[in-house]
Amino acid sequence: MHPFILERPGDLDSALALRAQAGRDDAPVEYIAGGTDMVQLLQEYVRRPERLVSLAGLLDSRIEVSSQGLRIGAAATMADVAAHRAVTQQFPVIAESLLASASPQVRNQATMGGNLLQRPRCPYFRDVGYSACNRRAPGSGCSAMRGENRWHAVLGTSENCIAAHPSDVAVALVALDAVVEVRGSRDQRTVPLNDFYRLPGSTPHVQTVLEPGEVITAITVPANPAARRSHYLKVRDRASFEFALVSAAVGLDVGRGRIRQARVALGGVATKPWRVPQVEAALAGARFEPTALRKAAALAAQGARGYGHNDFKIQLMQRAIVRAVETAGARA
Ligand SMILES: Cc1cc2nc3c(=O)[nH]c(=O)nc-3n(C[C@H](O)[C@H](O)[C@H](O)COP(=O)(O)OP(=O)(O)OC[C@H]3O[C@@H](n4cnc5c(N)ncnc54)[C@H](O)[C@@H]3O)c2cc1C
Ligand code: SF4
Repeated sequence: MHPFILERPGDLDSALALRAQAGRDDAPVEYIAGGTDMVQLLQEYVRRPERLVSLAGLLDSRIEVSSQGLRIGAAATMADVAAHRAVTQQFPVIAESLLASASPQVRNQATMGGNLLQRPRCPYFRDVGYSACNRRAPGSGCSAMRGENRWHAVLGTSENCIAAHPSDVAVALVALDAVVEVRGSRDQRTVPLNDFYRLPGSTPHVQTVLEPGEVITAITVPANPAARRSHYLKVRDRASFEFALVSAAVGLDVGRGRIRQARVALGGVATKPWRVPQVEAALAGARFEPTALRKAAALAAQGARGYGHNDFKIQLMQRAIVRAVETAGARA
């Protein structure tokens, strides 16, 4: 285990000040919240900060629903959000994505802020025995490109990194146009979650648009008729405790047997939660007929590229969309 000093500041301003002194990349000072991802990375020497600044007790953990929508404090646990009555009833895709994530023990400890900022599960990133990983060691190469890439992305990749984004709930939140509230030592701002994650491009080690030291303070989801009739479908190698090979988050607004409006995002297949507006446009006005749904879902494959072991994802993600649309559509 990499040794570190644990800082326990008494308020958020002190935490922000401590972290702001460090840079963006492989910073000597990092935040820790529930610790379920960070501790693994320390144990494997993937992250080697000198200090960890604990966010425990410094951030909002409330979950509030109003006519405007849903607001989730960054310190809310995955378990509390998944069990919240208004979330399960009005935003089922969020609750389902969380219940399909990790294990009860992890969900009890892990925070929503930490979930959005967890690191990829690429085995080469998490094993320092492999020297080539541009995300861990910029400029070193990518072991996955010609290695074992069954779990990797087919959309949004670059020649420098093909790691799939790991968070399930981020996919559900992107489908519902969620926004993250962010605070730094000087100001606060909001960022649509869809713009929050960066594509790997030539800088895969920079995962988000967060500036050094900024924290996520809350997540908001605007009210939308498609949120209530929503569903999260996750395809994985085993029934629990496993990350997505492919997932589809779908929300539908339905009237007279037709889809008025659809929200669709994909997980497990892209380097960030992947919204598919072309599929949404094709679903708008469609009836729940297999041919129409399959035709719309096929548009998700635009720009997809397999790397050998993960070629199967291109077909599988289309089938996942069709199944998720049918399931969401069958909801009252
Ligand atoms: C066995 C196992 C299985 C898992 N399976 C799944 C799965 O199927 N699906 C899934 O989505 N996830 C899965 N996970 C990942 C899990 O959801 C994350 O580890 C967890 O959500 C991280 O939250 P945390 O509070 O523990 O974050 P931490 O580990 O404390 O932090 C994670 C990162 O976020 C940063 N951070 C934390 N909070 C903030 C904040 N508010 N502002 C700025 N930075 C912050 C930290 O600096 C760190 O870089 C699994 C984890 C384990 C251990
Ligand atoms: S896919 Fe990305 S995270 Fe995995 S080895 Fe390549 S550069 Fe590293």
